[in-house]
Amino acid sequence: MAPIIIPIFLPYLGCRKRCLFCNQKATATEIPSPSSVRSFIEASLTELPSDKKNREKQIAFYGGSFTAIHREEQIRYLKEIQTFLASGLIDSIRISTRPDALDEEILALLKEYGVKTIELGTQSMIDQVLFLAKRGHCAEDTVSAVLRLRRWGFEVGIQLMIGLPGDTFDRFLKTLDQIIDLKPDFVRIHPTLVLKGAPLENLWRAGRYSPLPLGEAIQWLKRGLLKLERASIPVARVGLQPTRDLERNFLAGPYHSALHQLIDAAIFFDMAKHLLKISPNGSQAFFLCHPKEVSNLRGQRNENILKLKEQFKLNKILIGEKKELPRGYLGLQTQEGEVSIDRKSLDF
Ligand code: SF4
Repeated sequence: MAPIIIPIFLPYLGCRKRCLFCNQKATATEIPSPSSVRSFIEASLTELPSDKKNREKQIAFYGGSFTAIHREEQIRYLKEIQTFLASGLIDSIRISTRPDALDEEILALLKEYGVKTIELGTQSMIDQVLFLAKRGHCAEDTVSAVLRLRRWGFEVGIQLMIGLPGDTFDRFLKTLDQIIDLKPDFVRIHPTLVLKGAPLENLWRAGRYSPLPLGEAIQWLKRGLLKLERASIPVARVGLQPTRDLERNFLAGPYHSALHQLIDAAIFFDMAKHLLKISPNGSQAFFLCHPKEVSNLRGQRNENILKLKEQFKLNKILIGEKKELPRGYLGLQTQEGEVSIDRKSLDF
């Protein structure tokens, strides 16, 4: 089970310059001082609902480049967590950082202070995309960072973006192939959004950048999720966490508060289409799935059902819920019996 994350945002801390797409102010405002971290954690622990108290709890330093902060400052932040680790109130620490800021000395420091998980802002494995995004590192930095992190025994997360300037669907697929080869413990992917105050805003206003339309982003992400699932690499999150600040700063791009669900619904639509194609069954269809997949099969506002009815000239679509069916599975009742498909075996 995924740990409970207590996030501490350090916007831009450690960043040498601003990446093209970044406006950390859209997700957080002030940098908390090391001394304020302790009271923040205490308050967060008290507010944890009782059903979450027994889960693994991780403090996560997000929003900047933790390992690019001055060494003494890293230590000040990490020291604040040590009493929580010693008492068992917190189990481990997670940080996010740049792939080119992880030398052996820094890794030794992170190990010493109980850091377990390191998320790398990788974004793409295409150097031209990284250059245009003003990342200041290249794909090879990610490869060597992951290998080094593995040697030191850290859990490795990879953060990717789609739709940056210069990115294409093929480039995204190449990026995924390279990431899969690196076998990270998990991946996060989010589409590029135009946020107020980010350098990308100027390009967009000048008509020199167009974000991916939502429908296209869903198609890219659908393929991405299935590729990662087949490689047994968990996807920790798709899309940025919807917050009031993000919504206030959002200007353009494929933003949706339930993006992951839209992608799952697109996958179930393809699965249903596949079954109806291989087993045309008159004017009615009776699907079977796990109760938690019904909303994915229906799609938002029943969209999948309406489209399936229209495309396959069906009068009626029935859905049978079966708890014993695995998640990601879809069955179709036919006169000859049941045909089924697992989302991992969907053709693409
Ligand atoms: S994307 Fe990350 S590395 Fe780039 S400016 Fe923003 S916080 Fe810093």
